[in-house]
Amino acid sequence: METALEYIPQHTWSKILNFIARSDEVPPYLLLDRDIIKEKIEIIGKNISNSKVFYAVKANPDVSVLSYLSQYDIGFEIASEGELRILSSLGVDASKIITSNPIKTLNFLNEATNYGIKYYAYDSKAEVDKLSRYAPGSNVYVRLSVSNEGSEWPLSKKFGVEIDEALELLLYAKNKDLNPVGITFHVGSQCNNVYNWSAALDKARELFEMAKDRGIDLKLLNIGGGYPIRYLKKVTDIEVIEKKINNALWQRFPEDIEIFIEPGRAVVGDAGVFVSSVIGKAKRDDENWLYIDVGVFNGLMESVGGIKYKFLVGSRNEPKKWTIAGPSCDSFDVIDKEVELAEPEVGNIVLILSAGAYTVSYASEFNGFAIPKTILI
Ligand SMILES: *Cc1c(COP(=O)(O)O)cnc(C)c1O
Repeated sequence: METALEYIPQHTWSKILNFIARSDEVPPYLLLDRDIIKEKIEIIGKNISNSKVFYAVKANPDVSVLSYLSQYDIGFEIASEGELRILSSLGVDASKIITSNPIKTLNFLNEATNYGIKYYAYDSKAEVDKLSRYAPGSNVYVRLSVSNEGSEWPLSKKFGVEIDEALELLLYAKNKDLNPVGITFHVGSQCNNVYNWSAALDKARELFEMAKDRGIDLKLLNIGGGYPIRYLKKVTDIEVIEKKINNALWQRFPEDIEIFIEPGRAVVGDAGVFVSSVIGKAKRDDENWLYIDVGVFNGLMESVGGIKYKFLVGSRNEPKKWTIAGPSCDSFDVIDKEVELAEPEVGNIVLILSAGAYTVSYASEFNGFAIPKTILI
């Protein structure tokens, strides 16, 4: 597996190999290197002044991950009572939790306010009405729609409003006994286009000024998530992205505002490696098919949206091009095509890199195939 070290640090690689060699665990499972997670939380936010980091729990809500993160100085961004219950079981204080899903269920709002959560996103009047009833007096921030161009996982169509409507919504919230504190946006997940952040900041500044003219002094800018990780291609370093954001920020905003950052993928994504195994091989017309025990339904859902993973096998055979498919009986369960790999045998291990985010959290037990267990190493 000589190419592994192009993708993962030596110490992580050694831990993975040791774990596989010593453990009785049967594939498929997901290994997450706690040292990589720690490195990430030490880097993220470091180059943006006045910033606080809130991990977007949906990227990987495994209790071992949240428990590990909760030892550090990091907050959490959540969207549901399910996510809240895990944090609550770990004793995470409400002051460390925010919720940035602009449309929340009544049940969740109820539990969130009972728990003491004070920060909520919104982008519609209907949500203001809900918030003023369930969470009166809360700090609320409006979600602007911004360009998601160049992000591999765009999020812009579902949420966000344009500047004029955002202004109306800030005023509306104020009239409804809420505390409109700021603005949020999301540049799209796996965003390798630094321009998205600066364009978003331009838009946010315009709204800041319009709000000020109407008597609303905003104090918070929540720049959402979107930091990219390496799958096949190298991406811009978080440090470089943050320095650019920081520059753009303080050219546009007063010094006393607070910045929230909500990374999900970047915290856990490249700490994760699926340990899967080959369950079958076939030749169909001219195509070589490789069937493995993690598929689109039980862990690799993002492959359908275009995320391409790095696969590693231990074989020394001649490389061939493979169509790689999951274990279920559904023809949708095809992970990737034209993947060059030395031919493995049935039963051999296939490692899938950068698998820590949006994998097991997206997974179902469709067709009876278990969701791989997460193991922190
Ligand atoms: C999903 C999500 C995030 C995390 O996005 P990443 O691209 O994983 O960093 C942050 N904020 C909100 C509101 C989200 O929905």
